[in-house]
Amino acid sequence: MADVVFALATAPGRAAVAVVRLSGAGTDGVLARLAGAPPPPRRAALRRLRDAAGETLDEALVLWMPGPASYTGEDSAELHLHGGPAVVDAVTGALLQAGARPAEPGEFTRRAFEHGRLDLAEAEAVADLVDAETDGQRRQALAQLGGALGRRHAAWRAAILEALSVLEAAIDFPDEELPEDVAERARPHLELLERELAGALADAGRGEAVREGFRIALIGAPNAGKSSLLNRLLQREAAIVTATPGTTRDVIEAPVVISGFKALIADMAGLREAGDAIEAEGVRRARAWAEDASLRLWVVDGSAGEGAWREAEDLVRPGDLLVLNKADLPGGPDAAAARAAAQARGLEVLAASAAADGGLDTLAERLEARAAEALTGQEFPAATRARHRARLQEALEHVRRAIQALDTGAEYAAEDLRLASRALGRISGRIDPEEVLGAIFSSFCIGK
Ligand code: GDP
Repeated sequence: MADVVFALATAPGRAAVAVVRLSGAGTDGVLARLAGAPPPPRRAALRRLRDAAGETLDEALVLWMPGPASYTGEDSAELHLHGGPAVVDAVTGALLQAGARPAEPGEFTRRAFEHGRLDLAEAEAVADLVDAETDGQRRQALAQLGGALGRRHAAWRAAILEALSVLEAAIDFPDEELPEDVAERARPHLELLERELAGALADAGRGEAVREGFRIALIGAPNAGKSSLLNRLLQREAAIVTATPGTTRDVIEAPVVISGFKALIADMAGLREAGDAIEAEGVRRARAWAEDASLRLWVVDGSAGEGAWREAEDLVRPGDLLVLNKADLPGGPDAAAARAAAQARGLEVLAASAAADGGLDTLAERLEARAAEALTGQEFPAATRARHRARLQEALEHVRRAIQALDTGAEYAAEDLRLASRALGRISGRIDPEEVLGAIFSSFCIGK
C-alpha cells in the first residue's frame, strides 16, 4: 500500500462527531477495505465501517475527495464517526490494519504545500487560524491564507527582478565600459525599494503583535498599586473579556481581549534596588519584558512624595501612559510638577484609583484605543512571524549593498539583488532546506 496517512482531525475525547481524515495515493484502497467502494466525489454517503474480520465498527458519513482538487492535492477521504473514544480507537485500528499510518503533526498541510496547494506563508496561516482566539488573529490569519502576505512580497520581488534585468543587460554588454547611465537608471528604483522595505520593517511588529498579543507592561515602584490595577482591569468584562493569569517565575502575564485583539498585560517585580540575586534577576526580566512591550503603563502612587517618581522613569517612552494611582488620597507634594514633566516628555497622563474604582473606565478606553491604533493599518503587515521579519531585514540589507555597489560594478549590485530576491522568496517559497521546513510544520497540530 502506498503512503496513506490518517489522523483524528477533531479534538480527542467524547464528542458528538469525530472526524478522521486520510490522504495519499492508495486512499481509495484503504477506504474500500473499511467502507466498500468510494462514494461519488465530494458527496457524503452513510456507510457501515468494518474491520478485516467483517465486524461493524460504526456507521459513519464518508467523504471521498480525489486529488488534485483536495486540501492536500492528493486522493483523500474523511470519516465522520460517532465521537466516542472507543469508536475512534476501533476505526484507527482498522486503518492501521488496512496499511495506513498515523500522520505527523502538520503533515496534511505539509503535503498541501508539497503539491503546490499552499505556499509557505499560507501554510503558516492555517496554523495561525487553528490557534486564533480573537477576531484580530482570525482576520489576519484568514487574509494571510488568502495570499495577502505573499502579494506584498511579490510586488517587491518584481521590482528587484526588474532592476536586475537592467543591470544584467549592462553586464552582458560586449564592451568593457558599461553604458554610463545604467547605474543611474537603476538607482531611483532601488532607492524607492529601500524606502518601502524599511517602512515595511518598521511596521512589521504589528503583524506579530496581532498574532502573539499586544504587550502591555505595568511598571512602577513597589506598592504603587500595579497589582490592584491589573485586577480591576481584568474584572471589567465590558472592555476586557477574558482573564486567565498565567505565571512565569517573576512576570505575571494575563491574557486579555482588547478591542478584539489578543493582549498580554504583565504585572512584574517592582523596579527597585534589588536586595538579593534572585530579586535582581526578577528585576532584570521585568525590565526586559517592559522594554519589548508595545505599551508601558507607568503606575505611580500619586499620593506619595518625590521618591515615587524615580523608579521606572528611564523605561518609559513618549506615547506611554502614566497612571497616577491612589487619586482617592490627597495628592503628594510633587504630583502637579511631576505630572507636567511627564506630559512634556510625551506621556499621556491619567488619574485613577484602583481602590475607589476611579478613572478605570477611561483607562480601559484608552487601552482599547491604543491597541486598535497600534494594530490596525492600511495594508496587511509585511511580517507576522519573526521568521518573516528576519528575511525582510536580509532583503533590505542586500538592497542597500546593491545601491552602494552601483558605483563600483554592476556585477556586485546584481549579485546583491539576486540575494535580496531570494531572501524574499524564502518567506513564502520552497527554497528552504528540509530541516527549516520540518521545524515550521512540526509546530502544527496532528490532523492539520
Ligand atoms: P504593587 O506593589 O504596585 O502591585 O501595589 P499593590 O497593588 O499591591 O498595592 C499596594 C498597596 O496600595 C495595597 O495596600 C493597596 O490596597 C493599596 N492601593 C492600591 N491602589 C490604591 C488606591 O487607588 N488607593 C488607595 N488608597 N490605596 C491603594
